[in-house]
Amino acid sequence: MKVLLVGSGGREHALAWALAKSPLLTKLYCAPGNAGIAQVAECVPIAATDFAGLAKFAVETRIDFAVIAADAQLVGGLWDVLETAGIRALGPSKGAAVLEGSKGFVKDLCIEVGIPTAAYKRFTDPAPAKIFADSLGYPVVIKADGLAAGKGVIIAGDKAESEKAINFMFEGGFGDSGHAIVVEEFMEGEEASFFALSDGTNVIPLAGAQDHKRVGDGDIGPNTGGMGAYSPAPVLTPALEQVAMERFIKPTVAAMAARGLPYIGVLYLGLMITKNGPKLVEYNARFGDPECQVLMPRLKSDLLATLVAARDENLSPLEWHDEVALTVVMASKGYPGSYEKGHVITGLDVAAQLPGVTIFHAGTQTHGNDIVATGGRVLNVTAVGKDVAEARDRAYAAVALIHWEGAFCRRDIGWRALNR
Ligand code: AMP
Repeated sequence: MKVLLVGSGGREHALAWALAKSPLLTKLYCAPGNAGIAQVAECVPIAATDFAGLAKFAVETRIDFAVIAADAQLVGGLWDVLETAGIRALGPSKGAAVLEGSKGFVKDLCIEVGIPTAAYKRFTDPAPAKIFADSLGYPVVIKADGLAAGKGVIIAGDKAESEKAINFMFEGGFGDSGHAIVVEEFMEGEEASFFALSDGTNVIPLAGAQDHKRVGDGDIGPNTGGMGAYSPAPVLTPALEQVAMERFIKPTVAAMAARGLPYIGVLYLGLMITKNGPKLVEYNARFGDPECQVLMPRLKSDLLATLVAARDENLSPLEWHDEVALTVVMASKGYPGSYEKGHVITGLDVAAQLPGVTIFHAGTQTHGNDIVATGGRVLNVTAVGKDVAEARDRAYAAVALIHWEGAFCRRDIGWRALNR
């Protein structure tokens, strides 16, 4: 099969790496890709936002299957564009991606099918939103309804912060995605991610993971796209995973099918494990980044065959390695704020030789014979091991061999799992 993967981050490198191992694959293309992806795929210079260009390339190249990895493409309807052009692809469709594209839709669905989640109300005007937020008490959570590049959630500590956040959203601070908002109760607990794959009717569990969102050790400082992750996550016990499937994911997939919006694709369930049990934080319509980078090394089954089976509505259960996978994100100085680009990265080859280590590229480009850092998050230094401690030690041994000017990473990835 000729396969087209769309995207250019660490998640896409992990997917490309897993797809490249498939005996079904004859040729892998990635648009636009990065320097790491270029080691396993042919990168084509088409932006992930250029839906018409992607469809044209897929048709002309006779692509047999396309994999769309990112929220903006899924919510924007790239699946629909490709399928209309006759290209089979793993979605979800634009309609079903509403599970990521509208937080208010998801909250209403939770009430309809009895999924536990934080108390909330939806608003299209600031004044009643402020009154409701005040009635919930503080901290309170203010969410832009639509996609906001991962930044659409504000946790307001007091009335002034809450009113400021509500004004900011309605004044277009997050563009169109903030013209409707959700105001919800703050939930206390430990967060965990659980992934499943649905063919529209049947849904199978993938695996659990936990990530580290804050930039600094000890989970302090600004939020990021994620500074590291590991899988499995000990907080997600087998009993909790069963609850995730039976109480959350299966009723959601059934409700989507009943609405005529069959959900076909990867479903990410963000859970808060509260003292009153697990509650839904959010759904994503795709693999997480960097969670995908710790799921792929643990997957024993053929990823390509699996994704095609989901698209063709005949999924069967998967096999996983027992090992733990852990990834450390190496970022450029300044991230998640503005950062420098273009510094040459050294040590990649030696680091990749260490036992159990795989390095996924997130923000890199090839310049002549050099690989240079071009993103905020640059590398996902990933290792497998018999337990979290071994995976962590292997990943940090590799990190120690990699250098570029201004590189930094968190030093405590896996701490929650290790403290248990
Ligand atoms: P979301 O985009 O909905 O996942 O929100 C981003 C982050 O905000 C989550 O990963 C949580 O850490 C936090 N968050 C969202 N909703 C709540 C809530 N109701 N209570 C506490 N934290 C929340």
